[in-house]
This record gives sequence, C-alpha cells and structure tokens, in this order.
Amino acid sequence: MEDQTNIRVVCRFRPLNDMESQRSQVLCVNFISDQTVSINSQSESAENLKFTLDKVFSPSSSQESVYDFAAKPIVEGVMQGFNGTVFAYGQTSSGKTFTMTGPNLEDPITMGIIPRMINTVFESIYKSDGNTEFTVKISYCEIYMEKIKDLLNPCEVNLKIHEDKLKGVYIEGIKEIHVGNDSEVYELMKTGSDNREVAYTNMNAVSSRSHSLFIITISQTNSKDYSAKIGKLFLVDLAGSEKVGKTGAAGLRLEEAKHINKSLTALGQVIFSLTDGKSTHIPYRDSKLTRVLQDSLGGNSKTSLIVTCSPSPYNESETISSLRFGIRAK
Ligand code: ADP
Ligand code: MG
Repeated sequence: MEDQTNIRVVCRFRPLNDMESQRSQVLCVNFISDQTVSINSQSESAENLKFTLDKVFSPSSSQESVYDFAAKPIVEGVMQGFNGTVFAYGQTSSGKTFTMTGPNLEDPITMGIIPRMINTVFESIYKSDGNTEFTVKISYCEIYMEKIKDLLNPCEVNLKIHEDKLKGVYIEGIKEIHVGNDSEVYELMKTGSDNREVAYTNMNAVSSRSHSLFIITISQTNSKDYSAKIGKLFLVDLAGSEKVGKTGAAGLRLEEAKHINKSLTALGQVIFSLTDGKSTHIPYRDSKLTRVLQDSLGGNSKTSLIVTCSPSPYNESETISSLRFGIRAK
C-alpha cells in the first residue's frame, strides 16, 4: 500500500505523564503487534477499536526508531530531488512537539525528527562527490486562523500563496535563509519558536492552536552534466486535534476551533483522496495548509503521518478519534 501511495501512517503512544499516572497506572491501549493496537473503552465494543497502521510505536520507543521508520526515507527522497512531508497529528500534549523537535536539539538520544533530518542532510552533503553544489534554505511559518505568519520575519503576518508554472505552489515573500551547518539551523529553530511565543503575549498557548511548518529546501547542481534537482521538505507540527467543548467555547476560542477543525478535515480529505486511488479531484484548495503543501502531497512526494496519543484512559476518546483519522488516511 505504501509503495503505491508513498504515504506511511504510524501512531506513537507517549508514556503516562505525572498527572495521569497519579490517577491510575492502567493504560487504555493494548499493543497487539508492531502494527496493531486496540483501545479499551466502556462505550464501544473492542472490535471497533482495533487499529492497524504501518507501524505502532509504544511508550518505550526511541526517537531514533521513530525517525528511522517515519522520517529517514523521506529525507533520502528529498536528497534525490523529491518533495516530502512529515506531519505530527494529535491532541494537545500527546507528544507532537516531542516527536518533531524533541526536548533538546543537541542531545543525540532525545532530539526529535527535525534535528535528525538536518543531521542527515548535512552528512550526505559532506559525503557527496565534489561535482555537486548544494544550497540549503530554511523557512519557518505558522498558520493561525487561516493566516500565514513568517516566524523568521515576524512583521509578515499574512503571507499569500501563489502558483506559477516554474515554481509551482509557493508562499510569496516568505523569508528563506541560507544555512551551511546544523547549528545555523538550530538557531533558526529557536528564533522561530521564540517569535511564536512573543507574538501572543496575552494569549495562552496559541502554539497548540496553530500549525507550524518548518521548511527545508535543498537545491543541487551538478557541474559535470549541469543537471539540477530541488527537493522540498515540510515538517509540520499540527494544531491540537482535540474537540473543543460544545458549551465551553465562545468568541475567539470558537473561531479558532472552527479553523483548526476545517483545516484538519481538509488535510484528512486530501490524504484520503490520495490513498483511495479513485479520486480524480484532490481538494487542496479547501484550506491554507493543504494549499501550501499541494506540491508535497501526492505525486512523487513521500509523506508520513505520525498520530501521537496519550495512553491514559482519561484521554481515551481523543485517542480513538486520532487513530480513526490515521486509519482513514491509509
Ligand atoms: P504536544 O506538542 O502534542 O502538545 P508535547 O510534545 O509538548 O505535546 O508533549 C507533552 C509532554 O509530554 C511534554 O512534556 C513532553 O516532553 C512529554 N512527552 C511527549 N512524548 C513523549 C515521549 N514519547 N517520551 C517522553 N516524554 C514525552
Ligand atoms: Mg506542541
């Protein structure tokens, strides 16, 4: 299946956190095989709650093992001139940022997918023959309430998407910064995430209600045969997928929730249309997120969707709905 569509869907359960384990040590999940989990629920039968994906990562799984399966093939494709996307999807505090970025960019054990990909990119550049010239560029933006903000140029708060024959679909005017090594990229990651916090001084954890897109563009020119390749890599830490309480949300929170819901639904629709093999129309235009990613989802692009989950019975219904999103995408 994945060979046909180039899409891998995996789930990753984090360990219980302190608050959850104080309530109970019991997990809501059974790890049946390395591709199948079942969720225990009072409200639904076990048969409905068995999920099979391309891979299941249990709470003890390492950052490296997740990287090897869900990210390494993608960065290898990008070095060959294909586009690629890695998504982390799940409720707030399920482990999206832990998986994508990790708690420490420079710790070889806990570093997440983005710093590992950067390492791989520069390693393969250093190892390449002398005939190829590489350019690596970084952009970093977030989509909040259907507006694209440049996290490396915070005065740009409403960037537009354009399309032309030569460049395909692109974000017009987004800052692209040339980088020459890992540490320059880590600096940009920090600058971007600082800008993300500063922009919303009075608003609690906007980062969980916006999508962040870290973009690496790798261009290569061969000086012998003059061939050129460009690969684009999108690393997407999605907004929290949790349902907003029907009664609790009003005003801005309700508006935010509608935008998140709309863009995650659009993403699900696009991936579903790509994988079902029957759709002739892929609804990229239904959200900014899918529109930006248009050239990196489908076609020759490789995609991984990492569904992150809490193992606590307390979060069981969110875990079930995240896994349903995942299997629909397969
Ligand atoms: P999200 O980005 O989905 O809101 P986070 O990645 O911030 O969630 O994770 C919430 C908390 O759980 C953080 O303190 C994080 O360090 C911890 N955590 C998440 N996933 C794991 C994991 N696989 N192993 C250990 N700790 C984790
Ligand atoms: Mg996060």
